[in-house]
Amino acid sequence: MHLLQSVILLGVLAVQALAQLSTYESFLQAASEWPPGPGAELVPQQPDDELTAMMAEIDPARIQAIITQLVAFGTRNTMSNQTDPLRGIGAARDWIASEMRTFAATSGGRMTVSVPSYLQTPSGSIIQNTVISNVVATLRGSTDPNRIYVVSGHYDSRVSSVTNFVDDSPGADDDASGVAVAMELARQSQASLSFSSDLTLVTPNNAGEEQGLFGSAFMAAGLKNMSADVQGMLNNDIVGSSTADDNTTDPFNIRMFTQGIPSTETLSEITSRVDIGAENDSPIRQLGRFVVEVASNAVTQMNVQMVYRPDRFLRGGDHLSFIDQGYPAVRFTEPHENFAHQHQDVRVVNGVQFGDLVEFCDFDFNARVARVNGVALWSLAQAPGTPKGLTMDTSVLTNNSTLKWTGDPKAAGYEVVWRASEGCVLDACDPGGQCDEYDRAAVEGQCAVWRTCGGRKWV
Ligand SMILES: [Zn+2]
Repeated sequence: MHLLQSVILLGVLAVQALAQLSTYESFLQAASEWPPGPGAELVPQQPDDELTAMMAEIDPARIQAIITQLVAFGTRNTMSNQTDPLRGIGAARDWIASEMRTFAATSGGRMTVSVPSYLQTPSGSIIQNTVISNVVATLRGSTDPNRIYVVSGHYDSRVSSVTNFVDDSPGADDDASGVAVAMELARQSQASLSFSSDLTLVTPNNAGEEQGLFGSAFMAAGLKNMSADVQGMLNNDIVGSSTADDNTTDPFNIRMFTQGIPSTETLSEITSRVDIGAENDSPIRQLGRFVVEVASNAVTQMNVQMVYRPDRFLRGGDHLSFIDQGYPAVRFTEPHENFAHQHQDVRVVNGVQFGDLVEFCDFDFNARVARVNGVALWSLAQAPGTPKGLTMDTSVLTNNSTLKWTGDPKAAGYEVVWRASEGCVLDACDPGGQCDEYDRAAVEGQCAVWRTCGGRKWV
């Protein structure tokens, strides 16, 4: 072969190789970027100075004091004594109400405390006539009071037998830890003007949870009967320990359980949901994604781990009562539980301590969970509520999807955010400005939602 021909041939081979490399790199790039879409990479909203200062006020020492006091009432079984000032669930109820009233006293009239109660006749694990009482602090909004967010824990406790209302039942982690979250946020929120101007924040401490979610069912049904627009409910239940049953610790993760299809949907609603593949897009999951975005950061020092289940297997909690009324609700629970410390008689077996004792609590961890709740609620409070009349037009065969909603005239604007349909959390956004219609290509492969926050404030 002539030398010049050889050089030319080599050159052709090199060009071919380069062309193949370029095709392969393009393939890799396309694979990594699919699905393509408009908008910019989503940058999680960060707490501002006011919120950072507020969250620094959440105090592990106060959480320790709350849990220690609740444990000191001996038992908080729902059927235990309700009139003894020192022992039983009645003493715990009155102490929580008294503490909350001291918060309300400095709120300038914005916070009120109530103890709604009813008589539960024997049913399920309630074996005798029992007054069920919730202790509720309400920070009422002035401009949009019917928009409600709820943060809760349950103050009743149990041992091995759910009907044993005599023996000591400390319930430090389950669920004095959740009550401590609700009480700390009641104290914090009434001190912040930015919490109260628009919406209503309700911090209940429910009873009768262990026998069948009685207190929360009573509360959620009451809110529904009042046509209350509960746009988010955060249940804190077993949020007080970062140590697993094998003694490993996981102090910077918190699980958040999020149900998929709401239990109130009709068969035709479920059929529509399945038809468009929206099984993963329920208001409950969208609330969860909002919490992940705003509350996993340096201020909370927590990673919020969303779990695609209503609760742990064989377990339930007060959020389910709200879901049963059609409200979006999620549950926070520590990342690894120790079942020797829950629902157990206090005893030592073969050198192993059983029982839900205060010595097993991690108050710094518990405080970080309270900050996750606080950051989420504050962020919701800074923005307009859930958009109403939301529709996606699927009537025309097109590469575009048109989204419509009824805008709130007080809102500065909306931004549409989305994720890949198989993605867990949101990853892109497009500031929409003052609009109530959105029409973009490539939404079909993705799941658009409306973020009513993103640092956007009321005007
Ligand atoms: Zn519990």
